[in-house]
Amino acid sequence: MKLTEKTIVAALRRNGYKATPQRRAVIHAIANSNDHLTPADIHDRIHQDHPGIGLVTVYRTLEVLIALNLVCELHTGTNFPSYTLSVPQHHHHLVCSGCGEVVDFTGHNLAGLEERLTRESGFRIDDHILEFTGRCRTCQKMSGTVSAAR
Ligand SMILES: [Zn+2]
Ligand SMILES: [Zn+2]
Ligand SMILES: [Zn+2]
Repeated sequence: MKLTEKTIVAALRRNGYKATPQRRAVIHAIANSNDHLTPADIHDRIHQDHPGIGLVTVYRTLEVLIALNLVCELHTGTNFPSYTLSVPQHHHHLVCSGCGEVVDFTGHNLAGLEERLTRESGFRIDDHILEFTGRCRTCQKMSGTVSAAR
């Protein structure tokens, strides 16, 4: 289950952040979009109703939302990071390079890899980002690359 506008606002307050009109406008834009939005997209969408909210405010709000894991930051699919509603658990993404669809997934086993990397590099790993890119079913159908005969 994705977080909603309401649960995000509640989580902000729970973590001691005020749900200012600026923050609410950014959350509203993300929650009401089916796409993942870049900061510029978000700014465009709220500009009409909130001409006073600048791009810098959008960036600052996104920083807070990311720090609290309330939105997901996606690195592939657009030239800039883009943002979408999060789900309340550690998860990763499949991103369609055709239509931009984002599918969340959980459940992976990276423990062995992390162990090996730590051993080989001496690195202390705190976190990881994992995104797979490819084509969703719909986009494969449209380009005729779905092979039914396999
Ligand atoms: Zn996500
Ligand atoms: Zn993970
Ligand atoms: Zn697609």
